[in-house]
Amino acid sequence: MTDGHDWDYFTGGTWHSPAEGEMIESFDPTHAKPWARVPVCGASDVARAVASAQAAFADGPFADMRATERGRLLARMATAVRRNADRLAQVECTDAGKSLSGMKEALTGWLTDSFDYYAGLADKIEGAVIPADVPNILNYTRREPFGVVACITAWNSPLLIAFWKMAAAIAAGNTVVLKPSEFASVSTLVLMDVLADADLPAGLINVVTGGADTGAALIKHPDVRLVSFTGGVAGGRAVAKQAAEAISPVILELGGKSPQLVLVDADLELAARGIVGGIFPPAGQSCIAGSRVLVHKRLHDELVERISALTRPARIGDPSDPQTHIGPISNQPHFERVLRAIEQAKRDGASCVMGGKPVNPEGCSGWFIAPTLFTNVTPDMAVAREEVFGPVLAIIAVEDDAEAVHLANASEYGLAAGIWTRDSARAIQIADRIGAGTVYINTYFGSAPQSPVGGFRQSGYGRENGIEGLMAFSQTKSVWLATRPQQPEPFA
Ligand code: NAD
Repeated sequence: MTDGHDWDYFTGGTWHSPAEGEMIESFDPTHAKPWARVPVCGASDVARAVASAQAAFADGPFADMRATERGRLLARMATAVRRNADRLAQVECTDAGKSLSGMKEALTGWLTDSFDYYAGLADKIEGAVIPADVPNILNYTRREPFGVVACITAWNSPLLIAFWKMAAAIAAGNTVVLKPSEFASVSTLVLMDVLADADLPAGLINVVTGGADTGAALIKHPDVRLVSFTGGVAGGRAVAKQAAEAISPVILELGGKSPQLVLVDADLELAARGIVGGIFPPAGQSCIAGSRVLVHKRLHDELVERISALTRPARIGDPSDPQTHIGPISNQPHFERVLRAIEQAKRDGASCVMGGKPVNPEGCSGWFIAPTLFTNVTPDMAVAREEVFGPVLAIIAVEDDAEAVHLANASEYGLAAGIWTRDSARAIQIADRIGAGTVYINTYFGSAPQSPVGGFRQSGYGRENGIEGLMAFSQTKSVWLATRPQQPEPFA
């Protein structure tokens, strides 16, 4: 594999070895084997990356670039990614265990649409003329970029998360320092190689790699003006504290324990398909995985039967094989964490009616867990409350819709929710009452660059995608112009 080598970090348009020379191994989760090494960037490496981003923001071609040109630049990025979709998909498959065919399709389709969407918006960032109630004044607002923004990403979908952040940040006129997860950094580094085709100004996008210490050095750097973070609640809390010291605004896209409400009049086959598709294909490693089913007690047994019947034939294995339905858990610490959560659910008295253990697909020696179904789950159990981020579905029988809504909201998380019912009016009433950033009705898992995503409660704050996602990367300036200049005596 050509990209399986020692990588440098990328800043100012060129590659650099880490000052301390420290490297970490990146593992192929399908075979549990190291396949590449990435730098651990220390404070001086981070400072170099921020300096490059600051220089690109303050002078040079990007600083003077017209908004329409910024849009063209984003469109060139989309083209470069599409042209190199096979290479990027292969790396994301090897490094993070993502489906190879799924990634190829996404990288030539909806995933790169984000660049096109924000390319189109770059020259449509409008201010307003404000009717400030003051005589002889023209008051208007402008939306201006922050400067250098830090984009810190999770391991489950490194490219998707990076694209969403970068596209909006650049459209708004910022320069970027990306820090991917230490568990899956290679695709973000390969992306920098691929974007050489897009003729980007040096320093516009920089990548530093490493773990929490590298992230902390970046957030604390005085020239970083905004932090956009995707990760877990613990990481998000730490990042928000660090950013508070620097008085930097933060966008937090955190975890979830998203409920699937199956109402008494649901189309059960539709619901079962949506529920299975809403968790198992990425082995539960999606922030919006619908991991908690709240089903009317009358439908419970039939729903469990249908979910089991749909899941049983799923082929678990090598994500580069187009026949594979479910790939590996992306890294070993997380594999062990998911297994611990399964054991905890068993100890707590939930009934494991499917899966519940690691599996060894033919030709693979990595980290695989069978799709797992728990029934007899009560709302107080950890499996009903805590994000597992693995192929683990907890099913809770409820008395009625009111209890389903109550339990849906009885969570520290509020990222997404699904509602399954034949009654659209009822669905809309319930959607209004669910505390979640995204509510799906008779569908699950969709996303579009036009539609904002983000969390309620501990699932985070701020939004990505859509016009809101663009606005999050800009700040308002209010300009006052005297139309009849005359100042009163200051001390009259
Ligand atoms: P994580 O919080 O452990 O790490 C995320 C990133 O933050 C990594 O790059 C990591 O190195 C960095 N980091 C961690 N602690 C830090 C600290 N103290 N200071 C600075 N940087 C720090 O999360 P993860 O395990 O990589 O990802 C899984 C989590 O991400 C899950 O909870 C999942 O739900 C969430 N996620 C959310 C979304 C969303 O859009 N809401 C999308 C994908 C994943």
